[in-house]
Amino acid sequence: MLRWAGEDPAREGLLDTPSRVVRSYEEFFEGYAVNPEELLQRTFSEVDDYDEIVLLRDIRLESHCEHHMVPIIGRAHVAYLPRKRVVGISKLARVVEAYSRRFQIQERLTSQIANTIDSVLEPYGTAVIIEAGHQCMTTRGVHRPGVSMVTSRMLGVFRDNSDTRRELLSMLNRPGMNDFSA
Ligand SMILES: [Zn+2]
Repeated sequence: MLRWAGEDPAREGLLDTPSRVVRSYEEFFEGYAVNPEELLQRTFSEVDDYDEIVLLRDIRLESHCEHHMVPIIGRAHVAYLPRKRVVGISKLARVVEAYSRRFQIQERLTSQIANTIDSVLEPYGTAVIIEAGHQCMTTRGVHRPGVSMVTSRMLGVFRDNSDTRRELLSMLNRPGMNDFSA
């Protein structure tokens, strides 16, 4: 790539670039080595009859577009309505990461996250919403910075029951509470 762009790969500043790029790519695409279903195997049943929506919102999402190999940066919101068993919330974020650290298109990424949670936890419903900017559109091509793409996959009660879906959307519309993050 350096030579193709017109660079001299022997220039001092570029000597270690190939190995740095390989290490970066190993991190960007480490999701292929993770089995997302295994992440959800450990569940908890002592939830004292908790039977409302569990929502993890504003999960930072970093992926790469499979058409241009450039970043897709955004956030994911993951919700499910548990049927007796819940999973550690960090595991939901790990599932998002396992699928986003691959070559992706946003539509499939959204479906894969939702389908995995739904099939492993067997909740009453699962919902995944992703908002992301695609650098293949913002930094090249049509050059439309600020444009974001929103995709969603609703399963079970989130698909069939408009009250449940509305409740989820109102939870998402509340102002963020990231100040608790300390
Ligand atoms: Zn692209």
